[in-house]
Amino acid sequence: MIKEILKNLLTKKSAIPFPEDFKGNNEMLEIISSKKKIETGFKRSIKIRQVDSGSCNACEWECTALSNPIYDIQRFGIDFTASPRHADILLVTGPVSRQMELALRKTYLAMPEPKLVVACGDCAIDGGIYKGSYAVTNGAANVIPVDCCIKGCPPSPSDIIQALKKLLDALADNKAQIK
Ligand code: SF4
Repeated sequence: MIKEILKNLLTKKSAIPFPEDFKGNNEMLEIISSKKKIETGFKRSIKIRQVDSGSCNACEWECTALSNPIYDIQRFGIDFTASPRHADILLVTGPVSRQMELALRKTYLAMPEPKLVVACGDCAIDGGIYKGSYAVTNGAANVIPVDCCIKGCPPSPSDIIQALKKLLDALADNKAQIK
């Protein structure tokens, strides 16, 4: 083990190769917020409060991977926070089950302005595979105002990073629309 670490240090070989698909898919992000809201801006960093509103947990696994040494989302000035009071962005996964509706609304209300809501994954956008079930509200937009959608079932960590980076760029550039 020590021999392997020394060999990697000497050869400057990265221990874990970076995923080749990092470029992501340009079609995965849809910003639907008003220009006025985008113009509020968050400067150079954002804190995310993530809420699982009743997903199958695959979206959470991809979100968890964002903080591992491969994706290392903190290097982009993006990080997760446990408290909605410290959050700039509410990232919602899952179709918003009836059981989670009130909790999601309370989390949104607890966040300070300015704030944005990102629906992450097809379920959070419109209910996804759970759409039409009596037990769900068919997406976050039916409970709280959604500003941005990241498509996919689930979106990969690369997709999520690219989408959040584009969102940050939009906030910095005051662009209302990104394609
Ligand atoms: S979008 Fe797909 S992966 Fe994400 S919670 Fe729904 S079913 Fe699961």
